[in-house]
Amino acid sequence: MKITFGEMREKGARGVLIYCADYRCGHSTALSANRWPDDVRLSDIERRFICTACGELGADVRPDFNRDGLPTPAMGYR
Ligand SMILES: [Zn+2]
Repeated sequence: MKITFGEMREKGARGVLIYCADYRCGHSTALSANRWPDDVRLSDIERRFICTACGELGADVRPDFNRDGLPTPAMGYR
């Protein structure tokens, strides 16, 4: 059971990373999370993806905290 898009957005993630369910393929892509409402779980949409590289049905969906999100902490600046 994974978190919902609402919870994900509360934590500052604005996108999702979609990984192919077949680890031997390893294809991944990044998408904006804007199209999914707050009450949808990340696990709810996993079965709806088909890998564009190998055709495998299903995917692993994870929050993308780097996409349009919080600024990366600066290092060594001033
Ligand atoms: Zn694949």
